[in-house]
Amino acid sequence: MKQRLDTPLMPSPSEASVAFLPYGRQRIEEDDIAAVVAALRSDWLTTGPRVGEFEAAVCAFTGAQYGVAVSSGTAALHAAMHALGIGPGDEVIVPAMTFAATANCVVYQGGTPVFADVAPDTLLIDPTDAARKITPRTRAIIAVDYAGQPCDYDALRDLAQIHGLALVADACHSLGGSYKGRGVGTLADLTVFSFHPVKHITTGEGGMVATDSPEMAARMRRFRNHGIDTDHRQRETAGTWAYQMVELGYNYRITDLQAALGTSQLAKLPSWLEKRRKLAAAYDVALAKIAAACPLAVRLGNEHAYHLYVVRLADSGVRGRIFAGLRQQGIGVNVHYLPVHLHPYYRDAFRTAPGLCPKAEAAYDCILTLPLHQGMDEADMARVVGALKQELAV
Ligand SMILES: *Cc1c(COP(=O)(O)O)cnc(C)c1O
Repeated sequence: MKQRLDTPLMPSPSEASVAFLPYGRQRIEEDDIAAVVAALRSDWLTTGPRVGEFEAAVCAFTGAQYGVAVSSGTAALHAAMHALGIGPGDEVIVPAMTFAATANCVVYQGGTPVFADVAPDTLLIDPTDAARKITPRTRAIIAVDYAGQPCDYDALRDLAQIHGLALVADACHSLGGSYKGRGVGTLADLTVFSFHPVKHITTGEGGMVATDSPEMAARMRRFRNHGIDTDHRQRETAGTWAYQMVELGYNYRITDLQAALGTSQLAKLPSWLEKRRKLAAAYDVALAKIAAACPLAVRLGNEHAYHLYVVRLADSGVRGRIFAGLRQQGIGVNVHYLPVHLHPYYRDAFRTAPGLCPKAEAAYDCILTLPLHQGMDEADMARVVGALKQELAV
């Protein structure tokens, strides 16, 4: 499903002749390059001082107490499941409308993902359906801030508290968002970010878990380094060779090169968020006049981070044609996502089937992601809307 942005779906000859506008794209500037070069010239290429600096910068930005940087958003989700002690026999509730990694991390630990449906107007996890899916084996809920809009955290926190569940935020879309004045990163027990090139800021590959729990942070630091109780630099400082592997972990370390890029990118995030919000507002205004394509709803009290700009087409029967037509015009529309329980792997391994989450399934047939990223301007936005109108013949 995830398409690398620098290699969009094979461009047809007509596509190649006009500038291709991808749905999302990284922005790398000269100071980002200088930061990576400085790391390359330093003593530490990995597990050096730049990793801690990046973690501290993300904490300062989000308001979280601790940040544990790892090699990808998926590794961050896995570390979160490990920190919570998810294992065989445990169930974790995840929304059907998300990227597969949200559910896969539960399976990595031997647990069972249980799919909850989403609200049709926001595509955010429906707390009422999540409540229906709770059993005596449920251990946690992973909320996904789809497209960049925070979920209903008041309802989710209440639900988690009543049933003694952990609450995890998959905030891979929502870095910089807020819910009722509280920043993303402080809304759940553990919050996961991704720094893949399509996300708000990038480290090439990379991820982080934010938490206020020192115990869980320590557990995830061990987990990213094979389950070993100290890292190389700590041993060097202490003048000792001795270390112990106290539990099974992985090599999920992020490099100092990546961390340097992340810190440099993070400094620009406030202005990039502003740009994304302005473009989204302009899309909202332009699309208000088009009944055939309706933006997703934004709940009062939410500050949207706009990783994605998603519209719902009134007629699900035309989505394939509209998608192909826009691609022909060089507009890199996409579809996020096929509901996870409909992937062949989940159908085989967990016996999931259509009908399990009808609202997510119905939404999948009519959603379309329009281009939105910090490298776009209003003229690009107007080009997308013009092409969409033409394809819809409105
Ligand atoms: C991007 C993404 C991930 C995975 O992040 P990677 O850094 O690509 O491993 C997980 N969940 C969601 C919702 C995402 O969008």
